[in-house]
Amino acid sequence: MRCPKCGSRDDKVIDSRQSRDSSSIRRRRECLKCKYRFTTYEEIERSDLRVVKRDRTHEPFDRRKLAGSIAKAFEKRSTSLLTLEDMVDEIVHELETGGREVSSSAIGAKVLEKLRGIDEVAYLRYASVHQRFQDVDQFVDAIHTLGRRIKTNALQRELFPTETTPGGSASVPARSRDIAINKNHGRV
Ligand SMILES: [Zn+2]
Repeated sequence: MRCPKCGSRDDKVIDSRQSRDSSSIRRRRECLKCKYRFTTYEEIERSDLRVVKRDRTHEPFDRRKLAGSIAKAFEKRSTSLLTLEDMVDEIVHELETGGREVSSSAIGAKVLEKLRGIDEVAYLRYASVHQRFQDVDQFVDAIHTLGRRIKTNALQRELFPTETTPGGSASVPARSRDIAINKNHGRV
């Protein structure tokens, strides 16, 4: 390693330690000529993992993209950045040990598996964006999978609002009219 101060190529390693997740090694070096001390990092080359997308095209795996999509699911949630960072580390590690190619849907499934144990709102957000629920039943299934107790009546009011008869708004229960979602999905 060339000394940043005098340019000499002779140095010795005086200390060497692993990062917290053992994914990199930090080395403290000393120039044999001028005694200047500097630090180098050694980490795994991550660029050889490739993602196979839905349309069968390939692209290099992008850790920042993955971290960004997870962070989005956690928007305004109370989960700490450290938890998110650990989660991304774990996922990346599992992907990298799984081979050189991974499908985008396998990545999505892995993320959901982790999210389920951490934050169910983030889980549903991620699932609704990345899994693209085919229909209402799938969405309801996802909620059930979480083991959440659903007030069936409340859910049905949201998903299957009372039919509106022309001019007969009196037949619609006042409470269901208050639910904003009806305005969008109430039309037949
Ligand atoms: Zn030097």
